[in-house]
Amino acid sequence: MTQSHQAAAVPFEEGVLSTPWNNGGRDVLLGDSVHKATVNPGLGPNLAADNICHLVNEVIALIRQGGKPTKAPLGHVYEVYEKKQACYVDRCSFGVYRPV
Ligand SMILES: Cc1cc2nc3c(=O)[nH]c(=O)nc-3n(C[C@H](O)[C@H](O)[C@H](O)COP(=O)(O)OP(=O)(O)OC[C@H]3O[C@@H](n4cnc5c(N)ncnc54)[C@H](O)[C@@H]3O)c2cc1C
Repeated sequence: MTQSHQAAAVPFEEGVLSTPWNNGGRDVLLGDSVHKATVNPGLGPNLAADNICHLVNEVIALIRQGGKPTKAPLGHVYEVYEKKQACYVDRCSFGVYRPV
């Protein structure tokens, strides 16, 4: 009996998601869902935790303004979070700065 093996080349892509990280204030992305594999050990989970902290800080500030946030202000908060984090994630993950 012969044993066969298959191999495939998988591109090791790099980069940060260039399309919006939220869909109009309903859902928002962070962590591995916004970037390709990181090159440095430990950066994957650390970046995810950092994303969470920045996102939660923005959301708490909105909630403290009172009332129940609707999609429009939440969408704005998500965009602020993305704007702050996109360059940071790119720089941390891949050591280069690419304007978004
Ligand atoms: C084998 C392996 C080894 C790794 N080693 C390293 C390393 O040495 N150093 C390093 O920096 N990084 C490493 N990583 C990467 C690191 O684990 C990730 O960067 C990190 O876990 C990302 O965290 P995250 O919260 O973005 O995603 P995740 O940790 O993947 O969390 C996503 C969560 O969402 C849940 N989920 C998915 N879909 C749904 C859904 N529809 N509804 C509800 N929940 C859902 C999943 O169950 C999961 O709990 C490794 C990854 C793998 C797979």
